[in-house]
Amino acid sequence: MISRFKPQLGVQEFLALFRRNTGAVKKFEHAFAKEFDAVDAVAFPYGRSALWAFLNAVGVKNYEVVMPAYTCSVVAHAVSLSGNKPRFVDIQLSDYNMNLDLLPTAINENTRAIVATHLFGYPSDINRVEAIVAEAEAQYGHKIWLIQDCAHSFGATWQGQLVGSSGDVGLYALNISKTMTAIFGGILTFQDQKLANKVREWRDQHFCKPGIFKPWLRRLYLLAVYFAFNKYIYSLTKWLQHKTPLLDKLTKFYHLDGTIHFPPDYLDKMLDIEAAVGLEQLKKYPMIINQRRKIATRYDQCLPRKDGWIFPPIIKGATYSHYVVRVPNRQACIMHMAKNSVELGELIQYSVPNLPGYSNIVCDQDDCSRSDMASGTTVNIPIYPGFSQKKLQEAIDAI
Ligand SMILES: *Cc1c(COP(=O)(O)O)cnc(C)c1O
Repeated sequence: MISRFKPQLGVQEFLALFRRNTGAVKKFEHAFAKEFDAVDAVAFPYGRSALWAFLNAVGVKNYEVVMPAYTCSVVAHAVSLSGNKPRFVDIQLSDYNMNLDLLPTAINENTRAIVATHLFGYPSDINRVEAIVAEAEAQYGHKIWLIQDCAHSFGATWQGQLVGSSGDVGLYALNISKTMTAIFGGILTFQDQKLANKVREWRDQHFCKPGIFKPWLRRLYLLAVYFAFNKYIYSLTKWLQHKTPLLDKLTKFYHLDGTIHFPPDYLDKMLDIEAAVGLEQLKKYPMIINQRRKIATRYDQCLPRKDGWIFPPIIKGATYSHYVVRVPNRQACIMHMAKNSVELGELIQYSVPNLPGYSNIVCDQDDCSRSDMASGTTVNIPIYPGFSQKKLQEAIDAI
């Protein structure tokens, strides 16, 4: 079975787990900022904690935060749990990012922040977002924070400029399903040292040192992940997932789409061992991006254009965290491909405004029909480095 994703883990990551890693978080923050064109970076236990902390640290509460309707639900959870109300903007199906024609009308006098997401590794037109924000700031006479959600778009560029390297803050997530990992973890990047200091100070006042068992749980978790995705063991992993509640329970601990909820350790500081794994992954990340680009191009050239299938665009500067195809009958397609030993993913099978926790929020300006469409029809085809030429050809043949 070719798994739908696979973290890029090797010996270096495991050695890092058992080294002395005092000060690794600080080092990781520095190295991350350098790699992603920022003056500083501040690390957190999860991406969602990072966004939540940012809104708290800059005092955004009881306001509206504009965000795309089609994105990971934890972004909306972070907005809600920080005491704010998300305002959803529909996406465009050409690249799954927020439809910027709709952005100006979503902004009103209560808007204090905008989350611009670069989904699936596709850069959103950040110059245009910045112009819209600047105009709104002039109109309403107050600051509107621009947060670029780069959780899917490590290293993506818009007109040659790295996403997340302008505006107020870049948000990256580092769990094992992301382009690079720090076991879990999230990080904010800044262009303004004063703002970074302010957020770091807020973090240090409100986040706690994790309990003594947590590093061991994290080590165990990473080892388990490594084995779970081993090609000889993956079938067993799938069996455990389908036949037992074990893995389901574990995932639900961290992530529930339908309820506005954070994991119990969301206020822990990032661990030094997580940062140590992150530091190893930073070394690999240019290779990871490169491979993803190659595989996406290969798929684009080799996959047959089936009726009713809509293939993702090949866009300059994209980094393809996922290779997403819209298909007419998703379940049949997933089952058929599983029979051919290729596991397809359903990454975001919801439009956030339709989730139970958000049904009281009206999308007054527009009906988010494109987000609905994407949530009901997309599958993602395996795309990760470590995919040998032979495996890649197997996947292409199966499709
Ligand atoms: C994964 C993800 C996040 C944050 O994830 P955490 O699990 O909280 O680290 C934020 N935005 C997007 C688009 C994501 O995919």
